[in-house]
Amino acid sequence: MTTVVERLRGDRPVFSVEFFPPRDAADEAVLWRSIRELEAFDPAYMSITYGAGGSSRDGTIRSIARVATETTLVPMAHLTAVNHSVAELRNVIGWYAAVGVRNVLALRGDPPGDPYGEWVPHPEGLNYAEELVTLVRSLGDFCVGVSAFPYGHPRSPDLDTDTTYLVRKLRAGADFAIAQLFFEAEDFLRLRDRVAGAGCDALLIPGVMPLTTPRTLHKTIELSGASAPDRLLRRLEPLAGDPRAFRAEGLDVVTELCERLIAEGVPDLHFYTFNRSKATRELVTRLGLLPARA
Ligand code: FAD
Repeated sequence: MTTVVERLRGDRPVFSVEFFPPRDAADEAVLWRSIRELEAFDPAYMSITYGAGGSSRDGTIRSIARVATETTLVPMAHLTAVNHSVAELRNVIGWYAAVGVRNVLALRGDPPGDPYGEWVPHPEGLNYAEELVTLVRSLGDFCVGVSAFPYGHPRSPDLDTDTTYLVRKLRAGADFAIAQLFFEAEDFLRLRDRVAGAGCDALLIPGVMPLTTPRTLHKTIELSGASAPDRLLRRLEPLAGDPRAFRAEGLDVVTELCERLIAEGVPDLHFYTFNRSKATRELVTRLGLLPARA
């Protein structure tokens, strides 16, 4: 099974796609339609997030197993340390390996229901993503990714501390990091400079949200942990009552952001799909990221 890093070795940028586990049969049908539609565009890899609850976690394991066995896609499974003992984490990693998943995004995760609440470790679990990277690495020949935060993780006291711990988890055995959502290319490039300045040459991948609706804009603001720049709000907020105009302008904004990132040499653009394919298909076509066989 191919690794994410192998898929990023080419001389031109690629794209990848992120989904979340389905909640019910209707969700599952939507997810699979999107997976099949995007499969035709040959993303470098696809990933499925890992939730806090049992049924959502089962959904991740079931879906990633199906991707590994029934599609041509390179699967990457997210995994978090939330409410898991080390023994349970070993089991999940074992399941991933058993179904042929060789790529794992190792995360600490957030306490359920209160993302910015206090972190409470499982009594027999792990405290930081860095420890999960070490655990995944110790259990097999995995390609491991971690998360990175252009504005610093919300619980980091400052950017220097944030960079120190990011570099530590990369050095613990991660092959690459995917950045949380951000607004301007410079915000991502400054993160890349901080990591390079700390003497670390790991691959950094920008996370990108197709801004198709006011909801996707609000979600971007929430996940980024920062305030949106006035320049962006002036372009999009006046269009909030006109879905077609908002979508058109939102995709222009994202195209401009991606063009700048490509010009700066990013290896990959990682799209948050919300389990829909249309906007991502449109963006990768506009950006010329289509592989020859699509
Ligand atoms: P860590 O790297 O452990 O960092 C957490 C905090 O602790 C940071 O402030 C860090 O600076 C600090 N820290 C780290 N190491 C140390 C140390 N040794 N000593 C002291 N302080 C330290 N969440 C999910 O629940 N499921 C998902 O599928 C998911 N996917 C994501 C995908 C991406 C691309 C991104 C960017 C985020 C994702 N998240 C997901 C969210 C993520 O789990 C949360 O943001 C979480 O709060 C931080 O996880 P982390 O792995 O970055 O934690």
